[in-house]
Amino acid sequence: MFIDPHIHMSSRTTNDYQMMRESGIVAVIEPAFWLGQPRTNVGSFQDYFSSLVGWERFRAAQFGIKHYCTIGLNSKEANNEALAEQVMELLPLYAGKEGVVAIGEIGYDDMTPAEDKYFRRQLELAKEFDMLVMIHTPHRDKKAGTSRSMDVCIEHGLNPSRVIVDHNNEETVAEVLERGFWAAFTIYPNTKMGNARMVEIVRHYGSTRIIVDSSADWGISDPLAVPKTAQLMLQRGIPAATVRAVCYQNALSAYSQSGQLQESDWLNSTLIDQRQIFNDNSVLRGQEPLVESIRKYALIE
Ligand SMILES: [Zn+2]
Repeated sequence: MFIDPHIHMSSRTTNDYQMMRESGIVAVIEPAFWLGQPRTNVGSFQDYFSSLVGWERFRAAQFGIKHYCTIGLNSKEANNEALAEQVMELLPLYAGKEGVVAIGEIGYDDMTPAEDKYFRRQLELAKEFDMLVMIHTPHRDKKAGTSRSMDVCIEHGLNPSRVIVDHNNEETVAEVLERGFWAAFTIYPNTKMGNARMVEIVRHYGSTRIIVDSSADWGISDPLAVPKTAQLMLQRGIPAATVRAVCYQNALSAYSQSGQLQESDWLNSTLIDQRQIFNDNSVLRGQEPLVESIRKYALIE
């Protein structure tokens, strides 16, 4: 069984959902992010947040996958301050909804003053709502940006055990683990963190507080990055218990602290019934519904 704790399913296809389930992914977490282009008004954020807790959650269930999300103002769009102010007013309305496991993904992109301001305000929001935090670390100036993200969390009194720092690499992992934060790694297909590098990181650092994810979105990315990395780890001699920790159990341990996600969610109810509808809409498009009486793909360890 696998969890992909960072994947933007709204921009993925039903084929992806099917392949993910066949590969053993039982649950996903979809962080609120940008759309590849800037939103122009607050209603666009509102409809997006609503889809993360509504339609997308339903759509995932129609393919036998449990869907959770995080709610937040992403760092890129924090730079539009007039709009950011309006989004900040929306966040409390969604933070408490069912299936919302954290405030995120928040943090720095270019490390501008506006990004800093809304990162800090959202950390305060997480404290106020007693929520976990998912951090997006910048792709440029990665090491400094990651250190600073953690400094700011500490400054605001967050407990590192309740903060997941994502997009790590060989340069950042030691400090993140030393300081007691969760260290998540995004496995990109060709560049940045590839899965062969991930194998070596796990060989070196072990499994404690390390989490593997795909961050698959509308760009070149791989929704099967977690199961593929697990496979490669096993082939290259990483013990099965370690693979299970970094591709399943650690994500479960980190995000179950939210009280919104637990293992029984997928162990007890994973049969697909595509006759279901959401606001009068189904995923069928005239196709025959799949109705499972037994699980098509058995849950294996
Ligand atoms: Zn993301």
